Amino acid sequence: MTEQVSVPASASGVPLHFAHDDATLKSPTVQRVADGRLLHALFVDSLTGVYNRAYATGRAQQLLKSARAARVAMLVVNVDGFSRINDIADYDLGDRLLRSVAQRLARALATNDLLARIGGDEFLIVTEHHGHMPMLAAFAQQMLALFAEPFVIAGREYRVSASVGVARSNDGARDAALLMRDAGAAMRRAKVHAPGNVCFFTRDMKEAAQRRFAIENRLRDALKAGELTIAYQPVVAAASRETIAVEALLRWTSSELGDVAPAEFIPIAEQAGLMEDIGDWVLEQACAQVANWRWSIAPDVSVSVNISPVQFNARLVQRVAACLANSGLDPCALQLEITEGILLPDDATVRATMAALAKLGVTLAIDDFGTGYASLSYLKRFALHGLKIDRSFVAGLPGDTDCAAIAEALVKMAHACGMSVTAEGVETEQQAVMLREMGCDALQGYLFGRPGTAADCAGRLSDADRFRRKRMPR
Ligand code: C2E
Ligand code: MG
Ligand code: MG
Repeated sequence: MTEQVSVPASASGVPLHFAHDDATLKSPTVQRVADGRLLHALFVDSLTGVYNRAYATGRAQQLLKSARAARVAMLVVNVDGFSRINDIADYDLGDRLLRSVAQRLARALATNDLLARIGGDEFLIVTEHHGHMPMLAAFAQQMLALFAEPFVIAGREYRVSASVGVARSNDGARDAALLMRDAGAAMRRAKVHAPGNVCFFTRDMKEAAQRRFAIENRLRDALKAGELTIAYQPVVAAASRETIAVEALLRWTSSELGDVAPAEFIPIAEQAGLMEDIGDWVLEQACAQVANWRWSIAPDVSVSVNISPVQFNARLVQRVAACLANSGLDPCALQLEITEGILLPDDATVRATMAALAKLGVTLAIDDFGTGYASLSYLKRFALHGLKIDRSFVAGLPGDTDCAAIAEALVKMAHACGMSVTAEGVETEQQAVMLREMGCDALQGYLFGRPGTAADCAGRLSDADRFRRKRMPR
């Protein structure tokens, strides 16, 4: 028996109807209809032959409006480490693997389930779970178990796992796109905390997703609305305690959300594609400000600017060159702080960007050292000028002997590689003395000054300037 099923409007906006057998939802059979070719292109993923996102969304929306709404669940299945497969082999292998995954999933589904590919390595299953959590959990585990056996492609075995996120309509969302978003959020949670597992969408994830959504939304206008500012934190010479540099730290006071910490909004800006513009603005502001201070009150002060991994490419080189030219800042007074994550891929783009920046005359420092996976011997391969010891090691001083041993070893090894060392998060006099004795070149932390407005920082720099002039013989 076939029934008339409304499917989403076509690209031209005309609603389409085609004969559809509910028993075939899991694998499209739209070729059967007269104008099959058109429908096939509109609703079927050409790579795998399962439905595409547009069809799945429309069909799920119908279900969510029907009497069966309370029983609908979505599972987002994402192949773990798929990008690695594309990296080590050609795209053909990746394509064939995705086809095999689709076939395996399709074969395991019941007649009323719907399968679609909704992203590169991401599949969606729409199912009705009859309101029983244990049954739904068992079903999700069954989907995971499909990855236990290796995939055989061109005579070779490939082992991949998958992470699965599950969202149920009776937990809230009665909109297909929102339910899909929730299942996606649960899948990402699984990927971060326990790849190769199932994660159910929960209320706290919902709150986190809503906050994330609000931040992303508001952040889009933050620059134009003048809500972003830069705080400057002093960096002092370990021996003389004179302010030798400032670190530019981004601040956001949203008219709707209040103060949002950079640790919260920067990762969102990076994922939403907003960090390049924001990063450009930080560079411009910081260069102009410090050029001004060097001219007026502190001729030797330099500035450190944090650079996000998404900024680290040829475009950054152009932006840095433009900022230096516009502000007149001496290139040797600009230090860019990068994190280990930028260097770990060790690809040609990273090396070319580093070489071009070095040619401009700016210096590069590795920030938060010790929190990632890079070893010092690895860092030696790159032309880095400075290393900042992460504050988690400093916080343990003076009591924690492990922290002390690590900090001391870092200083020695960084010096052996020709890098200068700054300790971050120095809060007590004891820490400052100990780090100085270990050989740290510079210190940064609340003991010497919290990040403050440009005006606060100017006050501090001019006080230091007056003090220096007083000491100078006439
Ligand atoms: P970071 O670059 O390691 O900056 C140092 C962080 O430690 C700052 O946090 C600073 O306020 C904090 N801090 C400094 N001294 C002390 C101390 O004595 N004790 C404690 N507990 N904390 C101290 P903040 O400003 O919240 O920034 C957090 C992170 O956000 C930065 O870490 C940096 O990774 C990132 N960030 C800030 N501004 C920018 C930016 O313009 N671009 C990029 N890409 N990232 C930025
Ligand atoms: Mg930094
Ligand atoms: Mg740091």
